[in-house]
Amino acid sequence: MKAVRVHEYGGRDKMMFEDVDRPSPGPDEAVVSIEAAGVNYIDTYHRTGLYPLNLPFTLGLEGAGVVDAVGERVDRFSVGDRVAFANGQGAYAEYGLCQADRMISIPNGLDFGTAAAAMLQGMTAHYLSHGSFALQPGHTALVHAGAGGVGLLLTQMAKRLGAHVISTVSTDAKAELSSGAGADDVILYTQADFKDEVERLTGGAGVDVVYDSVAKDTFERSLACLRARGMLVLYGQSSGPVTAFNPKALSDGGSLFMTRPTLGNYIASREELEQRAGDVLQWVADGSLSLRTEHDYPLAEAVEAHRALEGRKTTGKVLLIP
Ligand code: NDP
Repeated sequence: MKAVRVHEYGGRDKMMFEDVDRPSPGPDEAVVSIEAAGVNYIDTYHRTGLYPLNLPFTLGLEGAGVVDAVGERVDRFSVGDRVAFANGQGAYAEYGLCQADRMISIPNGLDFGTAAAAMLQGMTAHYLSHGSFALQPGHTALVHAGAGGVGLLLTQMAKRLGAHVISTVSTDAKAELSSGAGADDVILYTQADFKDEVERLTGGAGVDVVYDSVAKDTFERSLACLRARGMLVLYGQSSGPVTAFNPKALSDGGSLFMTRPTLGNYIASREELEQRAGDVLQWVADGSLSLRTEHDYPLAEAVEAHRALEGRKTTGKVLLIP
């Protein structure tokens, strides 16, 4: 089968589109014939070795498709079932592997591309808005990269929970998308200092929570946007990691809270996985959560998909189609 493999950490030129044996399932695993694979920022960290995996490996955590084979201990799913997953292995391929207890059935009526697009970023937006900092009416949230994959979904969920949303984006076109997702105020952070704008928009009060996926370029000013006892949810690092942090900044800013969450801890049990994926897929199916999937690439063009994602060219979800 064809797969996108990494033999050596590095740039996009280290992504090899090559022939490899089909995976076979371990006792608790399933092999899924991939119809759509999700591209996520974490894939670029696996590629560069920032988050190392054992070499060589096939890229991709997220996918949707049809169960092709199951291990001997799997009884939850059977060959032919339509499934999606957000933490499998080797989804940038014609066939990927996943622990069966990490897979979710795709509801009738939802296509594979939509299911793949909803899983990882949808469950992330879900735990950020319902778990890391549980939003309620009256809260004001600052959402960075508001037109990104997570950003568009997080904005919609925050509005659904009754919060006021201020977003940041880099271009006018992205600003339009972020407003369309429900953001009440959109800041072009490439043109204006977002800290000054947040101060102006909140009358100096600051926001209750900042959801920051940009990190290096935004971190310090994100802290400065918070009201006393507000919370910084630092969940990504699209501009690079935060390398120096003195906890005293939290007291200086007014007894602030900070968390650095990852999805894995918020879908650790089968119950929590089913609850978050169930909500997200249900909302997509009933039309109350809209997904933007305008960036589909053939599997062979995974390099282009990474180039677009890292080059801030994408909005919403990026998919690879084998
Ligand atoms: P996005 O669609 O948000 O793409 C990244 C966006 O970040 C860009 O479009 C850009 O938006 C913004 N950005 C700002 N500065 C830079 C920069 N220097 N280089 C590149 N992009 C920049 O990606 P995802 O929705 O897939 O992921 C968003 C973040 O969330 C990632 O950092 C990812 O690792 C993290 N994440 C964390 C999870 C967790 O559980 N902790 C789970 C899922 C994702 P703009 O042009 O508007 O600035």
